[in-house]
Amino acid sequence: MKKEHEFEIYGLKYVFPTKPTVVVCLDGSEPEYINFAIKKGLMPNVENMIEKGEYHIAKSAIPSFTNPNNISIATGTPPKIHGISGNYYYDPSKCEAIMMNDVKFLNTKTIFYYYQKLNAKVAIITAKDKLRSLLGADLSFEHDMAVCFSAEMADRATFTSNGISNASKWLDKPVPCVYSSDLSEFVFAAGEKLLNEFKPDIMYLSTTDYIQHKYDIEDNNALEFYQMVDKYIGKFLENNISLIITADHGMKPKHNKFGKPNIIFLQNILDHYLKEKCLKVILPITDPYVVHHGALGSFATIYFHEELDIEKISNFLKNKQGILEVLNRQEASSKFELPEDRIGDLTVISEENMTFGTSPEDHDLSLLKEPLRSHGGITEQNVPFIINKKINITNTKSLRNFHAFHYATLASKI
Ligand code: ZN
Ligand code: ZN
Repeated sequence: MKKEHEFEIYGLKYVFPTKPTVVVCLDGSEPEYINFAIKKGLMPNVENMIEKGEYHIAKSAIPSFTNPNNISIATGTPPKIHGISGNYYYDPSKCEAIMMNDVKFLNTKTIFYYYQKLNAKVAIITAKDKLRSLLGADLSFEHDMAVCFSAEMADRATFTSNGISNASKWLDKPVPCVYSSDLSEFVFAAGEKLLNEFKPDIMYLSTTDYIQHKYDIEDNNALEFYQMVDKYIGKFLENNISLIITADHGMKPKHNKFGKPNIIFLQNILDHYLKEKCLKVILPITDPYVVHHGALGSFATIYFHEELDIEKISNFLKNKQGILEVLNRQEASSKFELPEDRIGDLTVISEENMTFGTSPEDHDLSLLKEPLRSHGGITEQNVPFIINKKINITNTKSLRNFHAFHYATLASKI
């Protein structure tokens, strides 16, 4: 192995894989989903994988949301470096909430980009289209070297160089509904086919947390989902590959015993407390797919329109039941490795079974058909980290989900 066949990101070395290296991000997979499905005997392939390899609990990036964590896994860095701190940030100079799904908000290159520079073949499949352009940023699709598409838009917007212009036709599977477990199954089926035909050096598969938002750990729908995942993991492992299964974040119940969502309406209570509208609450979980979480999560960031008594507001919030942490910009940035220019003057994190809203009229709760389950905070930071090889990770306390490609490519040598 020549030295120029490796690179370093954020203090970790990335070697060129000697066999196909696959990282699966099981969106919203609280470790207990997998543990319980294994206990029920529904994940024999993953069980076998753990026996031959390793199973650790890693920490996600904060906020424990989908985009920041997928981009962390794709870049090997926390949001402070890559810049994607949520789906939205706020520009106080324009009084505008700005969506961060455009590549111009990405402050660093992806691991995929660096591997492609070393002539690796790269495949990326994501369930939801919101991630496709960020994950595929800077990839070249020339000379049969990359594939990148979403299941949601599988019949269009397919970026590929191996003749797949319509992934739905290529896979002979209809484009699944965005609110379904089929969307994740499509990702796995496409991954299996690419592994056999395209033979990528590096492959990243990212599912959707539709099931995890809806169903708790012991629900049959959740068990069926993990059984489906296990079937594909078994097929993947028929190939000589290096494989890591991890998640972008966990998932916790956020409702009371009557099944009603637990919500602190931050904008409302602060407007009332300050007697005027002099700040703006941003919920970075907000995205075009609000049906399964109603834009309610455990992380909020607050932008002041004018100079305000930050101590007074912090203390007011700290004394509210259900609030776990209130941090100023510098504290939040240093504690959670967040980019200072993409968070507000205050960052607020809720307790395990609580969420933040802005005002009741901003959240259409009629869309929530099941008791609310969501994520975003510290209590959803634990994620599974399963490797199909024994590599003896010792510093598990500092293990992060965004170390996945470092360890997966390292494990390819075994
Ligand atoms: Zn997610
Ligand atoms: Zn979610």
